[in-house]
Amino acid sequence: MKKIEHIFFDLDRTLWDFERNSKSALVQLFHELKLDNIIESFESFHEVYRKINAEYWEDYAKGSVSKEKLRIGRFHDTLVSFGRDDLQLSTAMAEGYVKISPYQTHLFPGTKEVLQELSDKNYQLHIITNGFKEVQFIKLENSGLRRFFKDVLCSEEVGKNKPNPEIFHAALQRTKAKNTNSLMIGDDFEADILGAERVGIRAILFDPHDVYEARKEIERIKHFEELPFLLNKTMW
Ligand SMILES: [Mg+2]
Repeated sequence: MKKIEHIFFDLDRTLWDFERNSKSALVQLFHELKLDNIIESFESFHEVYRKINAEYWEDYAKGSVSKEKLRIGRFHDTLVSFGRDDLQLSTAMAEGYVKISPYQTHLFPGTKEVLQELSDKNYQLHIITNGFKEVQFIKLENSGLRRFFKDVLCSEEVGKNKPNPEIFHAALQRTKAKNTNSLMIGDDFEADILGAERVGIRAILFDPHDVYEARKEIERIKHFEELPFLLNKTMW
């Protein structure tokens, strides 16, 4: 086995706490656009939105909806479910959300400390994300993460989303890394773990909520602080 030299991180829900950040952006949007005139509470709005948004992302991953359709459709469908068919307001929400959310800065505990430790140990750190380029760079800059990463690869640059092997091959090529001296870490079992393993990259699942606790065969961490210890262990 070769020593790990390159570590590829997923961004959303792995380093950047997507749920917390998304919620704080939506709270702001809900008040700015005075949605309480239409919907009784933020909580009821949020519950419906989350479900619809997740469905849109599934369809986007399959390639059955476009980026534009996802951005507006998730708000339009949410408003429709509250009896308001308003494309203009949906568009305003979509634009507001995309503007506000990347500026939120909640990270998972220990993120910066561990990235610093890994940088100090001379690991080359990179990002592979299925997010949109203009959005992901704002997140990285504003949350103080950009400086840790040599390369940031967004799927739209390749035209394929994780777990498609093409995005992993592109990442290896751009960073001059080899699958045998690389490691992928992410929260999505299908996209990050199976995707990386399929091209021969060792993968560690970030599983803060213990969703995969029963699956003992999966190399898994719950807190970032566990990562440096795992890297010292010879796994295969
Ligand atoms: Mg993720």
